[in-house]
Amino acid sequence: MHAETIAIGTELTTGAKLDTNSQWLSLELAALGIPVRYHTTVADDLAANIDVFRIAAERADLVIITGGLGPTLDDLTREALAEMAGVPLVLDADSLATIQAMFARRGREMPARNQIQAMFPQGAEVVPNARGTAPGIALSVPRAGQSPAWLVALPGVPSEMKAMFADWVRPRLMDLGAGGEVIQGKRIQCFGLGESAFEELLGEITARGRDPEVGITVHQATITLRIVTSAPSDAACRQKIAETEKLIHERLGHYVFGQEDDELQHAVSRLLIETGSTLATVEAGTGGLLSSWLTSASIEDSWESAASSPYLGGLVLPSGTIRERLLPNTSGLGHSPDLARKMAEEARHQLGATWGLAITEIASLASDEPPLAHVALASETTSRLVTLNLLGDPTIGKARLAKTALNLLRLALLNAG
Ligand code: ATP
Repeated sequence: MHAETIAIGTELTTGAKLDTNSQWLSLELAALGIPVRYHTTVADDLAANIDVFRIAAERADLVIITGGLGPTLDDLTREALAEMAGVPLVLDADSLATIQAMFARRGREMPARNQIQAMFPQGAEVVPNARGTAPGIALSVPRAGQSPAWLVALPGVPSEMKAMFADWVRPRLMDLGAGGEVIQGKRIQCFGLGESAFEELLGEITARGRDPEVGITVHQATITLRIVTSAPSDAACRQKIAETEKLIHERLGHYVFGQEDDELQHAVSRLLIETGSTLATVEAGTGGLLSSWLTSASIEDSWESAASSPYLGGLVLPSGTIRERLLPNTSGLGHSPDLARKMAEEARHQLGATWGLAITEIASLASDEPPLAHVALASETTSRLVTLNLLGDPTIGKARLAKTALNLLRLALLNAG
């Protein structure tokens, strides 16, 4: 069995809203072992809806539709389903009573228009909706030479859609024994080289058709490896993923800093806690990125622990003039590695931290030279320095610069630990 999702709404096709329902449904279906082959998004247009329902019913065994079940004139899902299946819409008395009762509980009379939400294509099943007025519709559509396609329409509101999928659709699919194999994935986060260099180190691990499959994506200099596999059970999937993950660690070593939603600041915060050390920062070229990331990494743990966070704080110095006023010891050093070293020392001393991490302004030494920034790390016994060439997209450049600083600290902490 394989599936298609259809997200309905002009707000989606115009780009005003992002279709997150299909993403959620695809993950849920994958967990049941049902691969999704198509995501379709369509505007609130009757002919277009009938078209996509027809195409989906031909090419997918299971079609999950979201949106367009409301009472307003632009909610066309029920009508399109009935037309596509060639059946009339009929009133379901139980659904009408449920909708009327829901309005009565809220002390309101049901507007006449809401009666449409109790109309279903003949032969359809009602999918109960405990959170809203619009019940869902499940319809089996016969296909020549194949088993029938099963179309299930749910409301667009994500909270209603999710609850109805979990309470009604998922158990049905499990009863049908729909899932063949379970699909599972894991993300491994890496930093320190470009995408192609990682690909080279990984060798045949990223080959097409390998099982588990390993894909590489890059976002603001962070490289994400996505391991995906399928197997008859969760445990078998986990075992296959663990074997590939081990191979990745062997090939990439310290370039791997985390997994799933981890960012470098989470890896750094963990290592600071593990080594019982503290950090102070001073940054010019990154406008507070370091500070913001490190602060939110501690807040994500909990508000309470933010108070005892290993990140003691930092200075954000957008210009050399401000820097010289606040850190007079850094004046007269030009735009040099020594400036970065001095800034790191100052941060460490002023806040009494184990580590001081500094990023200078981004500047070109001459008009035909690329923009550079220096990053320095200082502790009582160590000093490390990296100079970064920042040609290219300036917004990515700043993130790369802040991440380079965090990575410098991460590697020093790994050595210290
Ligand atoms: P209602 O009964 O509330 O009218 P509906 O089935 O008619 O539900 P829509 O009117 O299409 O659903 O959408 C309701 C709201 O749900 C939208 O305003 C939008 O915020 C959200 N929504 C709809 N579709 C999606 C989607 N695919 N992804 C994320 N959010 C969505």
